Amino acid sequence: MNAAADTFRRLGRPATRGRGEVLRILSESPIPLSPREILERIPEPRPDASTVYRSLSLMISLGLVRSVALHERSRRYEAVTEGTHRHRVVCRGCGRIESFQPKKCDLSRIENDIRGALGFDVSDHSLEFFGACAECGRKKGRGR
Ligand SMILES: [Zn+2]
Ligand SMILES: [Zn+2]
Repeated sequence: MNAAADTFRRLGRPATRGRGEVLRILSESPIPLSPREILERIPEPRPDASTVYRSLSLMISLGLVRSVALHERSRRYEAVTEGTHRHRVVCRGCGRIESFQPKKCDLSRIENDIRGALGFDVSDHSLEFFGACAECGRKKGRGR
């Protein structure tokens, strides 16, 4: 029994092959994936896109997956995993997405501001950085 199937069983949901695959793919990916990318990574026979969307919304409601807005047309999804904390960098030029694990991630000042302004107790965050990747940066440099 794999970890994904185990998780579903614990939550009292049938671990269909599609659900198991979607969760496995998201858990193995260092960057959030779009539904199309998830579908492309499922081995044949592939479920249809609506199955993937239904699996995603179920897993979001179970707290296994979260959606990430990266200022694109399509939403991306990532597995909710304990212990790994990543930030994402998105290239404005080519759309490449990379992730990195910050050595230290101290946002206590911002979190205090949020608490002061909204009375909101922050427990987690998700950060995206936008700019030019190394390759696009080089291209731009040449053009000057
Ligand atoms: Zn780029
Ligand atoms: Zn962080």
